[in-house]
Amino acid sequence: APLVRCENAARTYGSGPGAVVAVHGLTCSVPPGARICVVGPSGSGKSTLLHLMAGLDRPTAGRVSHPGLDREGTDGLARRIGVVFQGPSLLPPLTAAENVVLPLRIDGVGEDEAASRARAALESLGLQSLAGRMPDELSAGQAQRVAVARVLARRPCLVLADEPTGQLDRATGCQVLRVLLDAAEELGAAVLVTTHDPRVARELETRWYMADGRLVQPETGSGTGPGP
Ligand code: ADP
Ligand code: ADP
Repeated sequence: APLVRCENAARTYGSGPGAVVAVHGLTCSVPPGARICVVGPSGSGKSTLLHLMAGLDRPTAGRVSHPGLDREGTDGLARRIGVVFQGPSLLPPLTAAENVVLPLRIDGVGEDEAASRARAALESLGLQSLAGRMPDELSAGQAQRVAVARVLARRPCLVLADEPTGQLDRATGCQVLRVLLDAAEELGAAVLVTTHDPRVARELETRWYMADGRLVQPETGSGTGPGP
């Protein structure tokens, strides 16, 4: 079963003549293990789609469901879906390792187990030597890799990344994306990444295109559609 299924989903902000239709008519599904890039210009609705898939937002029409995820309410969903955001998201007073450990402790993972999972996640992203650094002692690319480690340490089935390379230079962005894809593959997690950069999109085998709040077929034919 797909990890996420959207059926004719829409999200409108506000009501009446001033209403903004952020996305509409979204029908798509993310199968286990998929590696999908959602490509489209700023304002095309990529973030809204990702928020709907993550359960961070609810559709105002249609349906978003998670048939392939064992659910224990919203809390369970939050554990199975990891979200990586664009900007800095580490907690400044905690070291890199402590940033990775904290959500695990909140999940109820014991201290020793949390420490060893954090160490393994940092290592899989090439960050073992930076575990004791404070966030302000990390470069933007390093900090984003720690944010990825923090998500992966929770062992999600699906990683949703919203413009994860948007604030990084091209080389650093590519490196972060590669380690994200490799670490997710090791874990067997599906990945969906949004980007406005077609060059970032080439790193993923499946590309969905968005324009004006809809998923559209690519003109070039180089991508595959989102499917039913
Ligand atoms: P993208 O991620 O592709 O840049 P978004 O999903 O952020 O696109 O935005 C899609 C559209 O919805 C844009 O027109 C944006 O201005 C609008 N939008 C997004 N969030 C809100 C909000 N909270 N209130 C009003 N309009 C919004
Ligand atoms: P992105 O394009 O990366 O999604 P944005 O700068 O468009 O980022 O949006 C950042 C935040 O502002 C999001 O939470 C989004 O929902 C909100 N937002 C975007 N457009 C609008 C808008 N027109 N009115 C109110 N909030 C908005």
